Amino acid sequence: MSGDLSTNFWKWEFRCPCLKCKRKKVRVSSLLLFKLEMVKMAFDGKPVIVLSGNRCPEENKRVGGYPDSEHIPNPDGEAADIKIKGVKPIDIGLAAEKIGGMRIGIAKTYCHLDVRPPSPSKFWIYLGNKIIYSANIENKSLLKFYQIIQERIIDTNLILYNNI
Ligand SMILES: [Zn+2]
Ligand SMILES: [Zn+2]
Repeated sequence: MSGDLSTNFWKWEFRCPCLKCKRKKVRVSSLLLFKLEMVKMAFDGKPVIVLSGNRCPEENKRVGGYPDSEHIPNPDGEAADIKIKGVKPIDIGLAAEKIGGMRIGIAKTYCHLDVRPPSPSKFWIYLGNKIIYSANIENKSLLKFYQIIQERIIDTNLILYNNI
């Protein structure tokens, strides 16, 4: 079986979900598709579920995306929010870091991957409606950056607890 975008990926998976875009052309960067195929291989071919691929500016606004989002085709969409059943988002991120050439965002239930160069952050973490960027914290190792943030979250909880 072969997808209509790449070996394992289909246009319908990347289509902007809004009604206005029903007939719009789906545009996905071939570099991103290549990287996503590599991510799939890193997990022994397990299905990679695309939660968000292309977004038109209106849809991007609706979901609270960054105004110049990599999800908005310009001319191609350069980002995908993905999940893999039974795999933690951080583990998808670490595999993507190994593959290289991607910026990586870790959310609670998915991993954002895009093929834009670091600007300057290579990684970020979505915490509620906040985004914590790696540039001024730890921009070399995703694992180190992730651990620093996890520790800070625990610290914050302790502080909150002590104030009660
Ligand atoms: Zn749309
Ligand atoms: Zn995303």
